[in-house]
Amino acid sequence: MDYIRIKELLDQPKTGETVTVKGWVKTRRGSKQVNFIALNDGSTIHNLQIVAETEKFGEELIKKITTGACLSVTGEVVESKGSGQAIEILGENIDVLGESDPEKFPLQPKKHSLEFLREKAHLRVRTTTFGAIYRIRHAMIFAVHKFFNDRGFFNVHTPILTSSDAEGAGEMFRVTTLDPKNPPLTEDGEVDWKEDFFEKQANLTVSGQLEGELSALALGNIYTFGPTFRAENSNTTRHLAEFWMIEPEMAFHDLKDNAELAEDFLKYLVNYALENCEDDLNFLAKREEDENKNKPANERPALSLLERLKMVRDNDFAFCTYTEAIDILKNSKPNKKKKFNYPVDEWGVDMQSEHEKYLVEKHFKKPVIVTDYPKDIKAFYMRVNDDNKTVAAMDILFPGIGEIVGGSQREERMDILTSRMKDFNIEEEHMQWYLDTRRFGSCVHSGFGLGFERLMLFVTGMTNIRDVIPFPRTPGNCEF
Ligand code: ATP
Ligand code: MG
Ligand code: MG
Ligand code: MG
Repeated sequence: MDYIRIKELLDQPKTGETVTVKGWVKTRRGSKQVNFIALNDGSTIHNLQIVAETEKFGEELIKKITTGACLSVTGEVVESKGSGQAIEILGENIDVLGESDPEKFPLQPKKHSLEFLREKAHLRVRTTTFGAIYRIRHAMIFAVHKFFNDRGFFNVHTPILTSSDAEGAGEMFRVTTLDPKNPPLTEDGEVDWKEDFFEKQANLTVSGQLEGELSALALGNIYTFGPTFRAENSNTTRHLAEFWMIEPEMAFHDLKDNAELAEDFLKYLVNYALENCEDDLNFLAKREEDENKNKPANERPALSLLERLKMVRDNDFAFCTYTEAIDILKNSKPNKKKKFNYPVDEWGVDMQSEHEKYLVEKHFKKPVIVTDYPKDIKAFYMRVNDDNKTVAAMDILFPGIGEIVGGSQREERMDILTSRMKDFNIEEEHMQWYLDTRRFGSCVHSGFGLGFERLMLFVTGMTNIRDVIPFPRTPGNCEF
């Protein structure tokens, strides 16, 4: 390779040597005689300063060094006199590999709003903020695999095209090769799915859990980490139509073991970010501070980004049951003047994110594991408790996010599982493969799902889930 990446150069400055770097121009400033170019190649948040004398390169070439242009620069590495950087390059040769018309390039050196950048999702990776987010995302993906590999879990690829709806929540995207304008019909005038590619209705997966369960009941401990699709028809800051989910599933683990693993996992990921993404996190922390400077105190997070990460890493999570949580909410005044928009004054209703955030941020002041939800508001596969009213479910709630993890001990008893399926109108006929896990060698087992982008929201401090995934898919948004 004929060039060095900027991160490598900054980590081990080769002062006195001549090197070649390649990257994209952030800014060019200076005087008529000398130009200072800030070059970034994506390997680090830091720009490398290139010093280029106008006389040496000619005005024609210097004019082409505009924000967004791609350069190859060769020159000597010298100590920098300027503040903020240890080294710089004295440009000896500069090739403009790709020009960028300053009149047309949408990203100017000024700070752009996140809304504007969402419109330019194909270019926003070139900004400092999104460079940091992409690199942290990579670090978190790596940490997920490392955590499980170090603990002897096996990664299983569960299917993306599936004929089952794991959640039974009816949020599936249909997959079909039939002509929507002219589908084949049965004698009763219904769409004849037998004529479709899979000879039955197929969907994009909403969860790999059921297939994860059957894998765990042979391999012991497994995890899936794949794309998940839900036709969420609500436009929120924490739901995507396409998101990534990490779903471990463990044989011989009850709800307590499950919760312990989830807490260890979340602490590990947060600690991994603190130890490995320092520069990017410092930038995002400063960014958040600047954004919030002018906001009233009650709209600002109580802790800074780094303080929030350390709080999760260093504190035992709180525990409470759903029943206790509802009592806390009933007896609370979230805001002196304002009540909850959606009052939780009845046992049996699902919590909304405002309630979840209240529990974490105002009541417990640390992450909370809420267990034992009413059985009617949770999925059919969760283990029914002895009270016959609740299931062995757990949601983990995080500050600023609300639910980040949803999990449960699974119903391992065949008779109770099938009666739950009846309650949820799930036809046994299509689920025989799943019921076989209970028929042959069933055992206590548990698992959970961590929404990867919810984790990313927490780790980066971003507040809209569209800003922590490279190509967000939300209602009305499938640009490329
Ligand atoms: P919510 O109550 O927030 O809609 P859920 O209870 O429907 O979430 P689960 O089925 O429990 O979600 O999925 C497990 C995890 O996947 C959630 O805890 C969350 O972190 C994440 N998740 C669920 N739906 C989405 C989505 N549409 N976009 C991003 N992440 C999601
Ligand atoms: Mg949901
Ligand atoms: Mg939920
Ligand atoms: Mg859930």
